[in-house]
Amino acid sequence: MSSRRRRIYEGKAKILYEGPEPGTIVQYFKDDASAFNNKKKGTITGKGVINNRISEYLMTRLNEIGVPTHFIRRLNMREQLVRQVEIIPLEVVVRNVAAGSLAQRFGIPEGQALPRSILEFYYKNDQLGDPMVTEEHITAFGWATPQDIDDIVALALRVNDFLSGLFLGIGIKLIDFKIEFGRLYEEEMVRVVLADEISPDSCRLWDLKTNEKMDKDRFRRDLGKVEEAYQEVARRLGILLDPGAGDHRGPVTVQ
Ligand code: 5GP
Repeated sequence: MSSRRRRIYEGKAKILYEGPEPGTIVQYFKDDASAFNNKKKGTITGKGVINNRISEYLMTRLNEIGVPTHFIRRLNMREQLVRQVEIIPLEVVVRNVAAGSLAQRFGIPEGQALPRSILEFYYKNDQLGDPMVTEEHITAFGWATPQDIDDIVALALRVNDFLSGLFLGIGIKLIDFKIEFGRLYEEEMVRVVLADEISPDSCRLWDLKTNEKMDKDRFRRDLGKVEEAYQEVARRLGILLDPGAGDHRGPVTVQ
């Protein structure tokens, strides 16, 4: 059980424990949700279980196309084994459609397609509220090298192209998402790999036909049916068993 492992870090949605072998970490997914720099807090029942599965699925697909990630394997309902990496303190946001803070900042209506994908960097720092930064800040303050940034940009754009297509195939528009990267030390080598998680907590996902939100904005904006939306994403990805049309007790999680 996780309680016997040494806890390394507890974040808003996850706990990291020391893994069974050196260089590994156990990532535990909580049901806790927070928004607006921790000003809004709550729980979404079953979220941790769903996000564990969704992130496993997406990281695995990305691995298959050659995007290096920290993911090793899922251990149980709420835990996955990942490689220990040195987290680069940046939140990398890729946007395809105006929404959220970009829509606000530039006065663009939510839902307006952007002329091209836009990539942004935020400095990962809760106390400062994750301020947006440029490559100048990143290299001047030593958060990442120009080579790291080149790798991050190339990987983030590949992730965007791949996930946009994957979600489109199941009737979902990938509006935007946030990813994080880490440095993986292997023998004499160090390389930048995708870390953290990819889930409806960190993506904006809209139904292709109805534009209905299927992501954490349902929690942020009190739209209701948050868990149901996350489950629907999982169901469309083929991760959860559909108990059948007309049964509204919800899908059943499979191991
Ligand atoms: P925005 O800047 O519009 O608030 O967010 C852009 C995208 O990045 C959204 O998909 C949002 O969910 C994600 N995002 C931004 N900051 C965070 C964060 O601190 N945590 C998580 N989980 N996602 C974030």
